[in-house]
Amino acid sequence: MNFDLARVRADFPILSREVNGQPLAYLDSAASAQKPLAVINAESHFYQHGYAAVHRGIHTLSAEATTAMENVRNQAARFLNAASPEEIVFVKGTTEGINLVASSWGGSQLQAGDNIIITQMEHHANIVPWQMVAKRVGAEIRVLPLTPQGELDVALLPSLIDSRTRILAVTQVSNVLGSINPVKALVAQAKAAGVVTLIDGAQAVMHEKIDVQDIDCDFYVFSGHKIYGPTGIGVLYGRKALLDQMPPWEGGGSMIATVSLTEGTTFAAAPWRFEAGTPNTGGIIGLGAALAYVAALGLDNIQQREQMLMRYALDKLASVPDLIIYGPQQRAGVIAFNLGRHHAYDVGSFLDQYGIAIRTGHHCAMPLMNYYQVPAMCRASFAMYNSEEEADRLVAGLLRIHRLLGG
Ligand SMILES: *Cc1c(COP(=O)(O)O)cnc(C)c1O
Repeated sequence: MNFDLARVRADFPILSREVNGQPLAYLDSAASAQKPLAVINAESHFYQHGYAAVHRGIHTLSAEATTAMENVRNQAARFLNAASPEEIVFVKGTTEGINLVASSWGGSQLQAGDNIIITQMEHHANIVPWQMVAKRVGAEIRVLPLTPQGELDVALLPSLIDSRTRILAVTQVSNVLGSINPVKALVAQAKAAGVVTLIDGAQAVMHEKIDVQDIDCDFYVFSGHKIYGPTGIGVLYGRKALLDQMPPWEGGGSMIATVSLTEGTTFAAAPWRFEAGTPNTGGIIGLGAALAYVAALGLDNIQQREQMLMRYALDKLASVPDLIIYGPQQRAGVIAFNLGRHHAYDVGSFLDQYGIAIRTGHHCAMPLMNYYQVPAMCRASFAMYNSEEEADRLVAGLLRIHRLLGG
């Protein structure tokens, strides 16, 4: 393995700050990852030296900004191994990407009596937009359940698919359980039945190399801020044949070909048809820097390093009495748990006193909390910049809570 942890940590200025008098142990990257200087500087450099509105002018700065933005589209296409940059739509994030597909594809393709398949482990972002369009058109939502080990019960998928099934929308990696879903096999089954597929890649893209042509999905979505990029920017990949057929979902500038008050409006080609208004160019530049940063480290190296850390953390956590860990043994990025009878908020506040940042709550996955019959969970997430020492501090903190407050 080729991964220099000290050097990577030094790239992230925030990791050297203190919280409550202790060195920060940031174990909340699944909610949002910290940013390396490469990203911070790229965005800052753009605002200092290259900023102008894109697509609007022929002056030099505008042309340069437009080129810079379109270069990131090319880069994002290479990152996902899309067949063409025209399959890359810039969106605010995963949430907006799924809403775009549900509204544009779903709104134009779904009919009363059709059904949409999601799973028990989806983030609200991959549930609510489907509920909204289903309600509007009179479609039905079907849910692929979990096994007791916290994996998708993939054997049940054929029993959910029928002639009225139109789309399967599934997360690649669970943001709570860390389960890594067999998306390629799921897509193959859906495709054989003529079902369109959407993969929520929000928790996957930072942990492994993604190849949308290999997965063979129709849509793939991720957020910049979870892969060390800025907030407010994300990517929707859509198979060109589908994007070309889809109507616009937001109207305005930049998404039109011609506008007439008497003859009506004609629209730009995809992907620009889906990008109404002035885009988040600074965010796009920062996203480009984040993708370049990750590519330079190598996703294979990152994956090996993270898997090693994950095994280490799971192994150490086994020594904490009354700790319930949710999800399968083989997982990516996150460890959700509860400590005995203690509410997740109490555990989270306690750990914060030691400078350890974890997430507590329902993790935007209330149906999953319901499945496990708990109101909340604690979640420690491990990114490539986390250390074994930070995992040790989490374990020490949990042991201390247990010692002081009981099980
Ligand atoms: C974070 C997350 C989302 C939502 O991403 P936003 O950046 O908030 O739009 C969707 N799905 C999963 C699995 C996530 O982890």
